[in-house]
Amino acid sequence: MSLSTSVDTYVDREHRMMIGDEWVVAVSGETIPVEDPATGREIGAVPAGGAADVDRAVAAARASFASRVWRGTPARRRGEVLWAIGDLVATHADELVRIEVLDNGMPTAMARGLLDGVVEGFRYYAGACARLHGRTADMGADLEFHAFSVSEPVGVAGLIVPWNGPLASLSNKLAPALAAGCSVVVKPAEQTSLSTLRLAELVREAGVPAGVVNVVTGTGTSAGAALVDHPDVDKISFTGSLAVGRTVVAAAAASNLKRVTLELGGKSPVFVFDDADLETAIPQVGAGIFANSGQICFAGSRVYAQPGITDGLLAGLGEYARSLKVGNGLDPQTQLGPLISARQRDRVLDYIGAGVAEGGEVVTGGRTVGDAGYFVEPTIFAGTRPDMRIVREEIFGPVLTVMPFTGLDDLPTIGNATEYGLGAGVYTRDLGTAHRAVRLLDAGNVWVNCYGRRDRSLPFGGFKQSGWGRENGPEGLDAFLEKKSVYLHL
Ligand code: NAD
Repeated sequence: MSLSTSVDTYVDREHRMMIGDEWVVAVSGETIPVEDPATGREIGAVPAGGAADVDRAVAAARASFASRVWRGTPARRRGEVLWAIGDLVATHADELVRIEVLDNGMPTAMARGLLDGVVEGFRYYAGACARLHGRTADMGADLEFHAFSVSEPVGVAGLIVPWNGPLASLSNKLAPALAAGCSVVVKPAEQTSLSTLRLAELVREAGVPAGVVNVVTGTGTSAGAALVDHPDVDKISFTGSLAVGRTVVAAAAASNLKRVTLELGGKSPVFVFDDADLETAIPQVGAGIFANSGQICFAGSRVYAQPGITDGLLAGLGEYARSLKVGNGLDPQTQLGPLISARQRDRVLDYIGAGVAEGGEVVTGGRTVGDAGYFVEPTIFAGTRPDMRIVREEIFGPVLTVMPFTGLDDLPTIGNATEYGLGAGVYTRDLGTAHRAVRLLDAGNVWVNCYGRRDRSLPFGGFKQSGWGRENGPEGLDAFLEKKSVYLHL
């Protein structure tokens, strides 16, 4: 059987949720259709999990945590299991990439790049298992005291992920949670649950004991909300929109004051100075907004250009946008796939309409592509103003606004004039300008003469309302740990 046949058979099959040692349908028996966004066709169904399913999954996670079957496993062995998950993901890369492309629509090359990151994530945190250190303190009382701290897993963690990079978002949470010794309940996005269910099989195959990782598929308002409300969940790690992030915080506070980490949206500014190397800047700025059809939390959606470079930049970006091959992500030539759903396409088209109605000029794009699927042309606006909706709000689509700025003094006033603070870009050949710009921008990630590069060892997250806490690096592990200080009177 060829790979595509075997994957398509996987997609077609009856999908079940992993709870404890069982693969189960939803208690309600209901399912949610799975759609291929490139064609709009229904290609399968996943269980519509709800509060009763979340109850079962949390009970399984709690039982495994209480039994210490995973947190009590020696660190060296836990590290081996995490490494094995990475190996299994690498071995099944072609399969997982195809599932992700069918389910999400992203171009194959992008899915492959993200999958490489998933492998790296499990390997990075495999090494972290043996580094859950504490500190010792000198109490100053001669031989009277021994005082030290230890790191312990936070407990049962709910991991809630969005649809725009399903496995990548999940691995940012699952790898450190497992390294810390937590037991988890995963709630993938209802639009893209298939790769998570396949990963769950690989997690078990790698040697994670039953009940440590549980997956409940279902909608946010049903399964997601039940997980956040649950009094026996100790931590929620959430990636998604600002609006839902707020409800997560409120529900976590009202239930049991569970710990919360949030990775939310962005409206990231990019500043192109007169002295920038346009040959470098144009493809980087273009990819910074159009990759994954703009459905990236740190997409550089507001570009500001100094007067001397504006015409060249606009012309180059227009050419870049028009050169992108829009199509089905399974076609290896495709550079821009569909939006995730008809709803998301309509939302993006609404924003484009609002941009025109408020006086913006469409330099290129602005329309849908083809009759099937949810494609929108890469779109660039000029003549936009700071008060316009397309400049202020996160669109999460392939829509870029290009506006003027005069110099470094504008960076705090223009760049930081948003409730978000996830990413920012700077293009200049002057090292002094670059350093000053970096310090003036309120953003968790600043890219200079590049955009979107990341390293697993560095924290990822947002200033202001782009989130709480950080993923990746030691900070990502800390998010799943409690600290205990111990005082021994000798
Ligand atoms: P969303 O907030 O609608 O959904 C995200 C997840 O939360 C999904 O699994 C959804 O089912 C669940 N959910 C929805 N309502 C819920 C509720 N009331 N309680 C609990 N869970 C609920 O976001 P989306 O539309 O899927 O994703 C797009 C958003 O995610 C954008 O704003 C984007 O910027 C953000 N995002 C952020 C990052 C980051 O790392 N900062 C990464 C990717 C996406």
